[in-house]
Amino acid sequence: MAESLTTRLRIRPRQRVKLARHDPDFTGAFQGKAEVKSATKKNVERLFDLQYKMYAENKHSLLVVLQAMDTAGKDGLIRHVMTGMNPQGCRVVPFKKPSEKEFDHEYLWRIHQAVPPKGEVGIFNRSHYEDVLVVRVHDLVPKSVWSKRFEQINRFEHYLAENGVTIVKFFLHISKDEQKKRLEARLKDPLKRWKFSVGDLAERKHWNEYMLAYEEVLSKCSTPWAPWYVIPANAKWFRNYAVSQILVETLNRLRMSWPKVTFDPKKIKVV
Ligand code: ATP
Ligand code: MG
Repeated sequence: MAESLTTRLRIRPRQRVKLARHDPDFTGAFQGKAEVKSATKKNVERLFDLQYKMYAENKHSLLVVLQAMDTAGKDGLIRHVMTGMNPQGCRVVPFKKPSEKEFDHEYLWRIHQAVPPKGEVGIFNRSHYEDVLVVRVHDLVPKSVWSKRFEQINRFEHYLAENGVTIVKFFLHISKDEQKKRLEARLKDPLKRWKFSVGDLAERKHWNEYMLAYEEVLSKCSTPWAPWYVIPANAKWFRNYAVSQILVETLNRLRMSWPKVTFDPKKIKVV
């Protein structure tokens, strides 16, 4: 049988990742948006049901980690794929530059507090991985400090996974050219202009350093308990489809069941 899309996009543990070998334009067996639209819609509906079951069962939680360069579409993905989820039981948590208080703690402190409780879905818009990405690229802590974090993160995620947190991590992979187009579009379109940030141009200058930092993250932190997926994200419709498909498969593997009731409904009469 042909390798499934999910298997193809998943980084194997200890695989040495070279992002140049992962085509951001890849769209699998699909030629265009129209072909994939109904499949994505179906997945979004399945996600709604699966999330509902997770909420009812109150046993597992799902943690979705989103990492990407600016404009790669973390927000768009959340809008298109997670909209199907019931807000009761689903929380998006953005991680920005740590506050003073957060900074006084070790780097996983703020992360741990945001981990979804049983029955719920948590979406991390950026995450603890910033502590080996932006922190590394901008020399915010010495190498002797950040280089220990890959192992620390693996152990932290292992601990969460052993305690009922299903973790799935997506790197939305766009090309540098695609980012240029998207930044230009933001400047041109009055409805998108508010999204433009001069800071994004400064980060863009560090593109190659970010790619190297991402390669190390993907090579060291894709584990059986918390896999990384590299999502080709130049085509937004494929990005949305691929993530929706992986989430559905991940949740299906949990084999969740509706809670058993302790009464016989036939013997109960509502008067
Ligand atoms: P958008 O621009 O779509 O609103 P965003 O995630 O880019 O989303 P910003 O407010 O633009 O949000 O950027 C957040 C910034 O915070 C990023 O530059 C990110 O690198 C930075 N950041 C996140 N975590 C850390 C951290 N631990 N240390 C330093 N900087 C961090
Ligand atoms: Mg930004």
